[in-house]
Amino acid sequence: MAGIDAALEAGYEKIKVNVVLMKNINDSNLASFINWIKLRPIQLRFIELMETDESDKIFRRHHVSGEKIRRRLLEQNWQQIPRCRSDGPAQVFKHPDYYGEIGLIMPYEQNFCQSCNRLRVSSIGHLHLCLFGERSIILRDLLVDASQSEALKARIRAELQLKRASHFLHQGDSGITSNLSIIGG
Ligand code: SF4
Repeated sequence: MAGIDAALEAGYEKIKVNVVLMKNINDSNLASFINWIKLRPIQLRFIELMETDESDKIFRRHHVSGEKIRRRLLEQNWQQIPRCRSDGPAQVFKHPDYYGEIGLIMPYEQNFCQSCNRLRVSSIGHLHLCLFGERSIILRDLLVDASQSEALKARIRAELQLKRASHFLHQGDSGITSNLSIIGG
């Protein structure tokens, strides 16, 4: 927390803090989280807990719907604003009495993936077309040498044609992502 305040003092203008609200763990602290950004120009992003192969029990026990948070914000006069490019899939809310803003990332909402512009490359050089994709594509052989950049682009372009339109989390299918830490999520 002190580090975040130090970043603000140092003049960083766009600071985002991610929170996963979990039932019976920190969901009762929602008001304190929101109060924390009253005087801090921070984008506080509530990311809905997502189910993966290894987290099904945690998901069932602790999942809090982003819709519940959105209803609470609207009741308290937070207004949804058009999102900027850097907001990614977050729905962004502002309030005249707060310096900070709130982002909601609600992957279970219909059309969540419609504006997806995400690709990930893992630490071992594999391209993941989706956080919850069913396979990864090896790029490592083309990443080791800059003279192969055209071949690298061609491989990425070809694979992009196969990117699925959305995840399949509603069907309990999290692809090859057994837990989000393996993909930096
Ligand atoms: S398609 Fe995959 S990476 Fe893109 S927003 Fe949906 S879940 Fe995320």
